Amino acid sequence: ILSLEHVTKKYGDFTVFNDLDLKINEGEVTLIIGPSGSGKSTLLRCLNRLEDIDEGEITFHDAPIKSETHLRENVGMVFQSYELFPHLNVLDNMTLSPRIVQKRSRKEAEQEALSLLERVGLKDKAKSFPHELSGGQRQRVAIVRSLCMHPEVLLFDEVTASLDPEMVKEVLDVILDLADEGKTMVIVTHEMAFARAVADRIIFIDGGRVVEEGHPEDFFTHPKTERAQQFLQNLT
Ligand code: ATP
Ligand code: MG
Repeated sequence: ILSLEHVTKKYGDFTVFNDLDLKINEGEVTLIIGPSGSGKSTLLRCLNRLEDIDEGEITFHDAPIKSETHLRENVGMVFQSYELFPHLNVLDNMTLSPRIVQKRSRKEAEQEALSLLERVGLKDKAKSFPHELSGGQRQRVAIVRSLCMHPEVLLFDEVTASLDPEMVKEVLDVILDLADEGKTMVIVTHEMAFARAVADRIIFIDGGRVVEEGHPEDFFTHPKTERAQQFLQNLT
């Protein structure tokens, strides 16, 4: 559904990836893992063109990307720091883009937003402002807000990294639920138990390239490369 072909990405003289190939398959949950600074966040940002690439091509449904706007409408992203608009309540946060970008009616957008909030147990917070919510609640709002745009692919960058441990589960449960539904997702996380549980495929990146790629059970129990073995050992 979404792929990178021979992609090179640099920041000045520093090469983050060199000639990287990556395919995101429809209905699959792809987990990107790798050491800090290996380019996981950069990779996600390239996937929805928040970041320009230096060489290579990104295709969406096997065609070159028509426009960045087209891509961003179809590829949603949730960040580590929930980027909710502080001056808008939850419902307005969720319905702003559907109304402005997709020209949907307020009534219809709000109905959908409310049913998504209900699904994540936050219907009673529809009129609350972001600062009135806990971190876990804000992050659940950020996730359902991205769903309001009906993206075909969802990208998650360490969405639980800034949460207190007791709030991590409520957010991961929402993602697990989306995985069960068959959503196409690309997830960067440090939560290895979660990665193992949710992933259809693990991509391990280091040093600007894909070092290893495979089924989660294989990757976690018998990593093929020494680099991946080291990485997994250092986690415990
Ligand atoms: P982490 O696990 O710590 O989040 P990451 O794998 O997400 O790390 P990136 O944030 O993608 O890593 O960064 C990859 C490399 O690119 C790092 O060496 C970083 O210093 C560099 N980098 C990231 N953003 C920029 C930028 N805007 N300008 C210059 N260098 C950058
Ligand atoms: Mg990162």
